[in-house]
Amino acid sequence: MNAPSCPRCHRTYDEQNRTPRILPKCGHTFCQDCLQKMKIYGAIQCPTDNETSKVGSSSVTSLVKNMALLDLVKNSGPSGSGSSGSGGGGAHLVSLSLWVLPEKLELGRKIGEGNFGEVREAMLDDAGHKCKVAVKL
Ligand SMILES: [Zn+2]
Ligand SMILES: [Zn+2]
Repeated sequence: MNAPSCPRCHRTYDEQNRTPRILPKCGHTFCQDCLQKMKIYGAIQCPTDNETSKVGSSSVTSLVKNMALLDLVKNSGPSGSGSSGSGGGGAHLVSLSLWVLPEKLELGRKIGEGNFGEVREAMLDDAGHKCKVAVKL
C-alpha cells in the first residue's frame, strides 16, 4: 500500500515537519510544511477549492492533525520490522468526529485499515459544498 502523501508537494506525510493537518474551513488536508508556506497574513487559502481558513497569529501546528492519515502513514511506514513495538499508552483518540457532525458525513469507500480500525473516504457536506475527507472509524 502506498503511504498517503500531500496533494501539494506529493511527499509522504510524516510525524515531524510534514504532519497532515486539516484546514478548518474546507476540510482538506495538507502537510504542515506546505501549510506553513501557504500561510499569508494569518490565513491559508486552500489550493484545491480556494476556501480561506483563518489561523490568525497562531502557528499552523495548532491546526487539527489528520490522525486517520497519520495512522495510515505509520502502518505503511518504511520500517518493515517491529510493528508491535510501541506500548505507548493506547490508540489516538482524536478523530474527525470531533469536528464533523456525523449527520453531515457521507461515508465512502474504504481506503485503509490498521490495528486502529478502518479508514474511509467520506464526503463532508459543509454549507452546500462537498469535500473529501478521511475518517477513522
Ligand atoms: Zn505538502
Ligand atoms: Zn479545501
